[in-house]
Amino acid sequence: MEEHIGKNFPEPTVETEKFWQGCRKRELLIQQCNECGHYQFYPRIMCTDCMSRNIDWMSATGRGKVKTYTIIYRAISKAYAKDVPYVVAIIELEEGPSLMSNVVGCKPEEVKVGQEVMVTFEDWSEEISIPKFTPLPLS
Ligand SMILES: [Zn+2]
Repeated sequence: MEEHIGKNFPEPTVETEKFWQGCRKRELLIQQCNECGHYQFYPRIMCTDCMSRNIDWMSATGRGKVKTYTIIYRAISKAYAKDVPYVVAIIELEEGPSLMSNVVGCKPEEVKVGQEVMVTFEDWSEEISIPKFTPLPLS
């Protein structure tokens, strides 16, 4: 975990605390509205579709597709120097919502738009685990 010292750590808030607790337990939690069924990410206090506050957390499958991506060659700080080059991607989850993450477990030049990926978690500290995505074998 020492290799992550100095990186930009997420700071859980009232809205996101549950999400980060889920990551710690290897669960990718997203929100679902009890009124209209809408799924959403990032976490909010109300449904972005019908404005209901009657929303719950549910465990996403963790499967998704690369919607778009870029390869980072220049580290934004010393803490990221060992990571470059790395992929920053928008992942569209099976449930619909998208999130920004990294594609890991393959060479950056092997990442493709439309590629199927699966969530994995990287422990940055005792409290924080970061969701990342690895390519699924082609079916
Ligand atoms: Zn709703």
